[in-house]
Amino acid sequence: MSQKAKKVVVLPCSGIGKVYGALARETAYELMDRVRPGVVVTTCLPLLVIEDSEAKQLVTANPVITIDGCPKSCAQKSVEAQGVTPAQSFQAINFYKAHKDLKPDGIAELDENGRRLAAIAADELARVVDDLAAGGVR
Ligand code: SF4
Repeated sequence: MSQKAKKVVVLPCSGIGKVYGALARETAYELMDRVRPGVVVTTCLPLLVIEDSEAKQLVTANPVITIDGCPKSCAQKSVEAQGVTPAQSFQAINFYKAHKDLKPDGIAELDENGRRLAAIAADELARVVDDLAAGGVR
C-alpha cells in the first residue's frame, strides 16, 4: 500500500430533523475546517445515492469514515452500495455516550453543548484520520 499521504473522506449522514444527525454533520465540519484542513474532504451524501461519478470516484479512491445519526446508518450503507467498505464507521450518539456531560440539543443548529461535543469528537477522530492519511489499514 502506498505510504503517500492521501485525502480522507468523512461522510456524515443527512440527518434531517435529528440532533445526532446534526452532530454528525458538525463533527465532519470540525474535522474538515479546523482539525485536519486539506486532508479531510467530504461530499453530499445524496450525490452517492444518485451515483454521481465524482462522488463515486471520491469514495473509491480514498479511505472513508462515515458518521451516522441513527442506527439506519444511511451514510455507511450509501458507501457500501458503491461497493466500498468504509475504513471506519461511527454512530454520533456514541460521542455523547463518551462525554455525558455534553448532552447536545438542536436540529438545524446545535446548541453550545452540541458544538463543544462535535469539537471534542473531531479532536478524538484526528488520530483515525492521520492513520488513514498515512496509508493505514482501510
Ligand atoms: S442515519 Fe438516521 S439520522 Fe442519518 S440520514 Fe439516515 S435516518 Fe436520518
